[in-house]
Amino acid sequence: MNRCIAAVTAALVASAGMAQAQVTEQDLANDQTMTTQVVTNGMGRHLQRYSPLDILNRDNVQNLFPAWAFSLGGEKQRGQETQPLVYDGVMYVTGSYSRLYAIDVKTGDELWQYDARLPEGILPCCDVINRGAAIYGDNVYFGTLDARLVALDRKTGDVVWNKKIADYKAGYSYTAAPLVVDGKVIVGNSGGEFGIVGTVYAYDAENGDLVWTRPTIEGNMGTLNGEESTMTGTLNATWPGDMWKTGGGATWLGGSYDADTDTLVFGAGNPAPWNSWLRGAGDVNDGTRDNLYAASRIGIDPSNGEIKWHFQTTPREGWDYDGVNEVVAFTDADGNRKFATADRNGFFYVLNREDGGFVGAWPFVKDISWASGIDENGRPIFVEENRPGNPAGAADGDKGDTVFASPSFLGGKNWMPMAYSQKTGLFYVPSNEWGMDIWNEPVTYKKGAAYLGSGFTIKPNYEDHIGSLKAIDPMTGEWKWEYRNEAPLWGGVMTTAGGLVFFGTPEGELLALDDETGEVLWKFQTGSGIVGQPITWEMDGEQYVSVVSGWGGAVPLWGGEVAKKVNYLNQGGSVWVFKLPRQLARN
Ligand code: CA
Repeated sequence: MNRCIAAVTAALVASAGMAQAQVTEQDLANDQTMTTQVVTNGMGRHLQRYSPLDILNRDNVQNLFPAWAFSLGGEKQRGQETQPLVYDGVMYVTGSYSRLYAIDVKTGDELWQYDARLPEGILPCCDVINRGAAIYGDNVYFGTLDARLVALDRKTGDVVWNKKIADYKAGYSYTAAPLVVDGKVIVGNSGGEFGIVGTVYAYDAENGDLVWTRPTIEGNMGTLNGEESTMTGTLNATWPGDMWKTGGGATWLGGSYDADTDTLVFGAGNPAPWNSWLRGAGDVNDGTRDNLYAASRIGIDPSNGEIKWHFQTTPREGWDYDGVNEVVAFTDADGNRKFATADRNGFFYVLNREDGGFVGAWPFVKDISWASGIDENGRPIFVEENRPGNPAGAADGDKGDTVFASPSFLGGKNWMPMAYSQKTGLFYVPSNEWGMDIWNEPVTYKKGAAYLGSGFTIKPNYEDHIGSLKAIDPMTGEWKWEYRNEAPLWGGVMTTAGGLVFFGTPEGELLALDDETGEVLWKFQTGSGIVGQPITWEMDGEQYVSVVSGWGGAVPLWGGEVAKKVNYLNQGGSVWVFKLPRQLARN
């Protein structure tokens, strides 16, 4: 009964939204069930990337055909890591080099295009990518590589406001999709390799006024309505001296929103510099050099930016295991409200949603070397001999002992989002099986310069595959099936009530797998590597699927031996839209 009322209410809200063509908080809150639209990155602010649509299903997916394709144009290609949004007959999609396009979703015709004028000297660490836009009211919002947040009129592409998030000359940039909650546009920052301070920022969606900020590194002050609010953590509790002033913890992947507990969840990247020996002395397990809240997930009150809870995945992080990966709210098989997140460090964590408390963790890649497991409190059991050595004690005076560490710093899983199926109760996790030689070096902070104190070379762990899409049971950590791919996986995953799991490969194929078995049911070659995030929606009673194709991202830039292995892959930049023709929507 309640479900019926909710459905009717959703339909009324949807029709009201169509009439006004204004995206409301209700549209955002119900995105996961409103199948005629995709108005949030993650297909719902809980980031499940699950569609209840089953018009397209295991029995008819072989009839999925291209409807149109759209070129992002020009000479600006490189990695296309974005997720399209669809609302009121228009697709909004961001491209590399801070571009945004509005496209007629029926025909593929361009309505308008916005090109940010980027200054010389921007410092994006990991390709000139953008991961998507947000829409709310009459505006579409996205971030630019020079660390600005731009609001455009959805109808015309005209600039409504344009705000500086942070100083690009100090290494700040912005690449994530913004998150809109209760009229605030909430964003993070990038630049953890330059000794920036990770921060979550909330802007008024109407006028772009900064409402609050919350730094992720202890000792830094938050703000609320232009005044200092509270300090993050306790000064010098887990950071020595002034290291917290350049402590990293970038919030570069953005966040999720759990409506049930009214909590924003943002991840914080690596502490800076990478060389962990420079971030404090003391016992590795007494907590005094954990470097909070880097490499952590942080629960934040959306009204004022106060920290509600934190969970650190890698204390005293020393391998660039950023703690930014997306936190997905779900309800488990026993009806309990949980979060799940698959960390760069190779472990899949389940937390409770009330306070971020640890529930369980299991490996989701094969050869984790830096820790032997996770203890009952959620703390890693370190294998200290596999930590890159201290250069201060090195015989040659400037390079510590090299170790082989797995996963590599690009992670058991990197930014590419997983999906959760309400149908199977499984998470579909895009992972990579690779390791690295890594060593530490001395380094001092210099504004706008890389602040690592480490060197590294990434290597494949297996001859025949690096990419590995796994179906994982969040009750047990068990892998139900694995799909192996030669090149590393670097794009998002989506799953549907039709029993399908969609994702793309660097080799260029968009695939649909059987959600129960991992069997390939359909594939299409898009002409360039896919590192984008697929979506699906319903229009005129037919189901559509879209993904953006265009190879790039961090792997070609940072991938060492893996980059050489995949250097034959071609760049591109195209939006692909597929549909199931009505007459073929049967077995
Ligand atoms: Ca990092």
